[in-house]
Amino acid sequence: MRVGFIGLGAMGFPMAQRVVNAGFSTVTMFHKHREPADALVKLGAQIVFTPAEVARASDVVITVLPADAQLESVVFGSEGILGGFSPGKVLIDMTTCTAMTLLKVEQAIQAAGGRVLDAPVSGGTVAAAAGTLTIMVGGDASLLEEYRPLLAAMGNSIFHVGATGQGKVIKITNQAMAAIHLLAMGEAFTLGIRCGADPRTMYEVIRHSSGHSRIMDLRLSDFLFKGNFKPGFKLDLMKKDVMLALESAKASGVPTFLTSTAAQIFTAASNAGLGEVDYSAAAQFLAEMAQSSLKHEPAESEKGQANQQ
Ligand code: NAD
Repeated sequence: MRVGFIGLGAMGFPMAQRVVNAGFSTVTMFHKHREPADALVKLGAQIVFTPAEVARASDVVITVLPADAQLESVVFGSEGILGGFSPGKVLIDMTTCTAMTLLKVEQAIQAAGGRVLDAPVSGGTVAAAAGTLTIMVGGDASLLEEYRPLLAAMGNSIFHVGATGQGKVIKITNQAMAAIHLLAMGEAFTLGIRCGADPRTMYEVIRHSSGHSRIMDLRLSDFLFKGNFKPGFKLDLMKKDVMLALESAKASGVPTFLTSTAAQIFTAASNAGLGEVDYSAAAQFLAEMAQSSLKHEPAESEKGQANQQ
């Protein structure tokens, strides 16, 4: 099976590395920065120059792009995937974007004799590098079984969630919750700190209590406590995901009080210049509104404990 891989960013690059290292014959291309593609060549991949060439040289093409606009351009653009598609080929799209765009892509791919799997991911860059992503797959169940060994190179929790487009629906729902959890943590920790609580003590207690969320484990020790906002997951991509949830809520008439507030905060944080840093900066942004900070250097006596977390 020849695999084409398009989109070598924070997620796509470690995912593509795992695909190459798992022994799949892989062809890729670069966009803006050549280094990730060159690094894949060192592992055994081949480089071509356009999405059409990637599709021509592959049996299955994987896309991990920022959002709807980039997916549409990679598929429908003048040198897009469709130009190199022929009957029997498969597109696996792992982008977080709308179901509507994916269904438009599927219609065009099917007209060219191809098939599509909708397979967005969760778990972040650490899980991408470790091959422990959650992959939520919409599309034909037998097509998923055909490509499960390829997906298993990238993720270890692979769910069939329904028809094409349902992967995007569940991913966007997850993102609305992750955004709200981050902001809830930012606001509540700011309150605790302003009332005198020690941030690490709060984390230790709350992770054994009902306020706990996975976002605390993913974003407190390595990001907020250290004041480290190297992405990770860019704040503007999380803003995009929250906006996708709002668009979908508008179309379906669902009231979304908390997601709407999250969208306002992510928009304000982006306008304050935080769009390209890790999305956890939105929690620090809330803390700063209270003249506070979530950054916390452990005391000498706490250092051993902090390293164990
Ligand atoms: P990123 O911005 O780091 O990477 C996107 C990559 O796509 C870049 O390398 C860019 O050059 C490439 N690209 C853009 N337009 C292109 C084009 N026309 N042709 C070829 N390549 C093009 O983003 P990311 O963090 O890797 O996220 C990718 C997707 O995965 C997004 O939809 C995001 O929402 C989702 N996601 C990200 C994370 C995370 O933690 N970073 C976690 C889960 C899901």
